Amino acid sequence: MIVMKFGGTSIGSAEQIRKATAIVRSRMGKGNPIVVVSALSGVTDALIALANGPQAGRHAEGKLDWIRERHYKVISDLGLKKGLIDKELSQLDKSASRINGPGDITPKVLDTIMSFGERMSSRIIAAHMAESGIPAAACDAYDAGMLTNSDFGNADILPGAYRLIRAALGKDGPDLHVVTGFIGKNGRGEITTLGRGGSDYTASIIGAAVGAERIEIWTDVDGIMTADPRIVKSARNVRLVSYAEASELAFIGAKVLHPKTILPAISKNIPVRILNTFNPSHRGTTIVRCIGNRKRIASIACKRRISVINIHTPKMFLMHGFLRRVFETFDMFGLSVDMVSTSEVNVSVTLDQRHDTRGLVKELEKIAEVEIKSNMAMVSVVGNGLAYRTDLLSRIFSTLSSVAVEMTSSSTSEINQSLVVKDGDADDAVRHLHKAFFGS
Ligand code: ADP
Ligand code: ASP
Ligand code: MG
Repeated sequence: MIVMKFGGTSIGSAEQIRKATAIVRSRMGKGNPIVVVSALSGVTDALIALANGPQAGRHAEGKLDWIRERHYKVISDLGLKKGLIDKELSQLDKSASRINGPGDITPKVLDTIMSFGERMSSRIIAAHMAESGIPAAACDAYDAGMLTNSDFGNADILPGAYRLIRAALGKDGPDLHVVTGFIGKNGRGEITTLGRGGSDYTASIIGAAVGAERIEIWTDVDGIMTADPRIVKSARNVRLVSYAEASELAFIGAKVLHPKTILPAISKNIPVRILNTFNPSHRGTTIVRCIGNRKRIASIACKRRISVINIHTPKMFLMHGFLRRVFETFDMFGLSVDMVSTSEVNVSVTLDQRHDTRGLVKELEKIAEVEIKSNMAMVSVVGNGLAYRTDLLSRIFSTLSSVAVEMTSSSTSEINQSLVVKDGDADDAVRHLHKAFFGS
């Protein structure tokens, strides 16, 4: 059994849905693959805008029209029945009309609204596949055991869910399931989402649950590249990547994979392939546990819009338990830090800029001086060859001699060297490093 996930651009139009269907058909050998789909491209952003409409003082109706027309066009181009998603559209209308002001947009409400993207796309794709002779049926992930905690907007799977998913999807039957990515339900039956880009994670959770022989992530690029091709035009495909490298890359900003995607695959040692719907014959990238003796740099990644928090106290070295208190304070506010660097008198950490840090700063100021620098970016060089490059840091710093580097840190696994620069310098830093390490 294999799991195939298609991202938003890969199913963004009738033409793309036909291509994706042909790709699925080409995999229908020994049994049916399980197909996981994202929302049509642009739809999740539009749903968020719809929810935020009243807050921004705009009438949300225009967005709902846009979402309706976006789906109707694809349905009509595919020659399907218009009523196919009317139930979901009217439920969406009802959910959105309950939002009358900023106080109504809770993370729980936002998750319900965002869930409609995948609920509509899965129905359209299953209907098109069925019309083309594939015995496909749409399936909402929460009806197939996707049980999560209640961390709305960034929910995680509960351990018991794997057994439920296996029971629902693990047996090869006549139906080919087209499952909604991104969404689940908590124990109270409330809809949750797994974080932006979470359909990748859905695919790997299902893959691990059913013991898939392979998980395929179909996207809009030729696999993992030596840098984001939107930043570096000459970026090249990396054929083989280890679980550790892929995980590191995803966590530090390579959008091609949701950060948690690799974890379920590791637990069952399932290969993950990243493939291009727009170029299906390309080999893409294969992610496996062990990549042999490849001592090379795999990719340059970049995470935008982060804040650096500098926590400074001249007495730090003498203060027993200082670091523990600092990190307990982050924990108290539910904030997880990305990068940490310490000296005798200073601790610097990075955080996603979207977090509200007012309470955190107030608490930290009880024990130290606190300074926040926003609009920063983390640029990282990743690869299992890093440990063998004695010239690594000098090469990085000579390459970036014209860029102010705020902070550096390397991972304990020695496959990642990260540095923090101003957000406005990030693209240039990635391009310079790519040239230095990949020659173009
Ligand atoms: P999907 O909708 O298929 O999930 P995403 O937009 O989430 O696709 O991820 C694919 C995008 O990830 C690519 O278009 C590319 O711009 C970006 N990306 C960032 N870093 C990398 C990288 N190292 N290799 C490939 N793509 C990358
Ligand atoms: N549709 C969701 C998003 O745009 C999930 C995904 O595409 O993986 O974030
Ligand atoms: Mg994605």
